[in-house]
Amino acid sequence: MNDIVILGAGHAAHALISAITKSTSSPRITLVGAERHVPYNRPPLSKKYLLGEVSNDDLILRSPAQYAKLGIVTVLEDAAISINPASKEVRLHSGRSIGYTNLVIATGSRARSLPASLDQSNERVYSLRGLADALALREKIVASQNIVILGGGYIGLEVAASCVSLGKSVTIVEAAPRLLARVAEPALSDKILRLHQTNGVSVHLGRTAIAIRERGAGCATELDDGTVISSDFVLSAIGSVPNSELARAAGLEVEDGIVVDERCATSNPSIFAIGDCASFVFGGRRIRLESIQNANDQANVVAAVLGGGKARYNPVPWFWSDQYDARLQSVGISHGADASIPVEVGNAFALWHHRDGEVIALDTINCPRQHMLARKRFGSGGIRLTELEKSGYVL
Ligand SMILES: Cc1cc2nc3c(=O)[nH]c(=O)nc-3n(C[C@H](O)[C@H](O)[C@H](O)COP(=O)(O)OP(=O)(O)OC[C@H]3O[C@@H](n4cnc5c(N)ncnc54)[C@H](O)[C@@H]3O)c2cc1C
Repeated sequence: MNDIVILGAGHAAHALISAITKSTSSPRITLVGAERHVPYNRPPLSKKYLLGEVSNDDLILRSPAQYAKLGIVTVLEDAAISINPASKEVRLHSGRSIGYTNLVIATGSRARSLPASLDQSNERVYSLRGLADALALREKIVASQNIVILGGGYIGLEVAASCVSLGKSVTIVEAAPRLLARVAEPALSDKILRLHQTNGVSVHLGRTAIAIRERGAGCATELDDGTVISSDFVLSAIGSVPNSELARAAGLEVEDGIVVDERCATSNPSIFAIGDCASFVFGGRRIRLESIQNANDQANVVAAVLGGGKARYNPVPWFWSDQYDARLQSVGISHGADASIPVEVGNAFALWHHRDGEVIALDTINCPRQHMLARKRFGSGGIRLTELEKSGYVL
């Protein structure tokens, strides 16, 4: 294999290195990361890490010594600042240039910022994306009693559950009329709303923050209906944006994320993009997925393609989230469903989404077996609605 440079030392990079080193001995790989850490596991940052149940060392996916043993060159705390596709070189913040034969962009995404005019809190608004954020957030949560979370997406909801588990009072403010509006159908949103309300979380739906002001040692968040909520601090969890600026500046096609084909190749054949920053066509529309499944599976495709194989990315998207004692799992994408059928037994809940007589997605709470079976079936021919109806909605 020729020289591979990977930009971004996160999950996708880790998965790519694992896949390449499994099939190739002594590959020539340079891993460039903006953070000071080797790739680490992000999902616990909003869950067990905030609860103090997981340490920094537990998060590390492979130690620096293991990278050295594999012959991988790691360049950390030195962000790439430009790509020159003509000379096949990447320039780093330190001024250093690195040449490549193939470049893989795995720069992930970052937390969406609040409009600057809204935040007058004097640094009392936090966000969560990386380990440094999680450490600062954990310290702040421990020292606080009342917390306002802007955004009722997965990260906001997971942090809310962690804060409640630590005995804190939490208020969630969500601009959409329901929680998880971007990714879930209304029946799942309702379930999750009840889960949080039962755990004592106050939820304001269809409301936006119009100002966050410093008040005493904490802050006051004013909503668009005039409500003012006092808290020790605010977590902004209003979504993420792909780190695609480098690609755009290098002339690669970008549409929300970096546009890739089924091989995860960008509009330049020597440059690939994987993970949160990549945008690809699924079910007839261009999407980005922010999930471990997507990072791993795209990494496997690029490893195969770089090794001369004919792999194509044709995912069975799946995702999980832990909130309180509930494990949410989703497989498939429910967007465009004709209808969704809820099935509830005790604390277990399943929501089957179908289109044209075919099951296209399943959201579950505390139904790991159904989730796993659906994942298998989606990967091997799918599930007809008639079969599901006959079986009483149990696989
Ligand atoms: C708090 C949290 C909880 C999550 N929970 C779940 C979950 O429960 N289940 C799930 O499936 N997914 C979850 N995710 C999403 C999952 O972690 C991501 O989808 C996954 O990490 C994507 O991998 P990636 O390599 O694309 O990006 P990342 O893992 O984010 O890595 C990208 C890396 O690139 C670096 N970088 C950016 N720009 C540059 C540059 N110019 N030069 C060099 N380096 C650069 C970044 O600093 C970062 O280290 C969660 C994410 C977060 C933040």
